[in-house]
Amino acid sequence: MNKKCTGDEKRSDGKDNPQDLLRKLPSVDMLIGKTTDNPDFADTPRVVVIDAVRKSVDELRRTIQADPDGFREAELAPEAIDRRIGEKIEAAMAENLVSLVNATGVVVHTNLGRSLLAKDAIRHMTTISERYSNLEFDLKSGKRGSRYTAVEDILCEISGAEAAMVVNNNAAAVLLALDTLARDREVIVSRGELVEIGGSFRIPDIMAKSGGILREVGTTNRTHPGDYEQAINENTGLLLKVHTSNYAIVGFSASVSLRELVGIGKIRGLPVMEDLGSGTFVDFRRYGLMKEPTVQESVRAGADVVTFSGDKLLGGPQGGLLVGSRTVMDRIKKNPLTRAFRIDKLTLAALESTLRLYRDEDKAVREIPTLRMLTCSAEEIEQRAEALEERIRRIDSQRITAEPVDSISRAGGGSFPLLEIPTKCLSITVSGMSASRIDRLLRKGSPPVIGRIESERYLLDVRTIADDEINGIEKAIGRLPGHSNKTNQTETK
Ligand SMILES: *Cc1c(COP(=O)(O)O)cnc(C)c1O
Repeated sequence: MNKKCTGDEKRSDGKDNPQDLLRKLPSVDMLIGKTTDNPDFADTPRVVVIDAVRKSVDELRRTIQADPDGFREAELAPEAIDRRIGEKIEAAMAENLVSLVNATGVVVHTNLGRSLLAKDAIRHMTTISERYSNLEFDLKSGKRGSRYTAVEDILCEISGAEAAMVVNNNAAAVLLALDTLARDREVIVSRGELVEIGGSFRIPDIMAKSGGILREVGTTNRTHPGDYEQAINENTGLLLKVHTSNYAIVGFSASVSLRELVGIGKIRGLPVMEDLGSGTFVDFRRYGLMKEPTVQESVRAGADVVTFSGDKLLGGPQGGLLVGSRTVMDRIKKNPLTRAFRIDKLTLAALESTLRLYRDEDKAVREIPTLRMLTCSAEEIEQRAEALEERIRRIDSQRITAEPVDSISRAGGGSFPLLEIPTKCLSITVSGMSASRIDRLLRKGSPPVIGRIESERYLLDVRTIADDEINGIEKAIGRLPGHSNKTNQTETK
């Protein structure tokens, strides 16, 4: 705008001066009219068209001003401008939250949405979202009801607890329980259990927010019953056990079991709470995996309240589940914070259906995707790897290869920190292309495919891939650039 130009005539180097180029920019109004008339954009909201046109023209203007000599005049051709506008409209109309292929092998991947819902849960959620429901209405009495009744019975039935309730995630469940039981009172926790869970959930911070006063006992690797007993005083409100779900202390270590803690609590008249984190109703040893404490065991050990997530090993929607004794749960239910942490009806519908599946464990393991992926047989993994390999071979390119390799899947979601589940991966190579570039291109593709890089190799772990995603993966890999012999992209970065 503020560049000085002396005339309209061509300069001695034969190039247009900036004013000439700027004058060749079509008018915004004309472009809006033209784009609106284009049948391709018949359904595009007018505001989106206007914005795309303005941005395109602005962009061109700025490019010209920044470097008039380097500007390619072909950018001003009507087709080029239309293309620019079209791309902007497409980007604006694309949804931000999209589904993708998780080929990382991490089953409960917090960044990729943790758990996939069972078909029953999706069906129930759809029904409840399309119609009115008895969310807070008692059909027997015709009076106002509680939204928690939808899941309380089934939660008690599966866990063996006297009472239960749910909030919107486990962090809220922990905060709610601490606020109810330990506001302005001391909460005794072992130093070995002051964990940080991903996404900035730290036990000491949650404690501070709840108004509970953290009283650390023991050491990082060893805590004994006597440590709790000695720390108890007239201001103690709660004994808390936290399942160190995302790491393990091995070697010279000792911790106090929940049962022992409950024993101490009984003698001293103190409630005992356990934050299980990734709660499960299934004993995974039955499926050749490691032991992860179950909710039933914690209830049987006598905890007054047990909290756990709905979308980690449970395989349901995001939620914070609390089960425990009637007296303690009644106090928790009366806390006004429950209103702020209220679970929404869609989650409630999905949770109810997921929980119902646990009445028949075989069915739960078959139908809840998280459980299915964790317990998937070696043969099934092998077959899927072969199917995917076969499909990648079909891609017409000498430069792409897929080689099966043995590797390790992880449970994720802060569960089973030491568990290594044997799996099959396909190592994808594209000649002249580094693993990190393959990773980047597939991540930006459609559908986005997220794999992992291991010792400079790009791997697709088939454990977390669904059979009906193989098509999409084949397409995404087929679209990788530079794999036909004619082009000579030899990028190494
Ligand atoms: C994951 C976890 C939480 C937080 O649960 P969200 O459902 O993610 O809110 C709390 N405590 C422990 C021990 C956990 O593992």
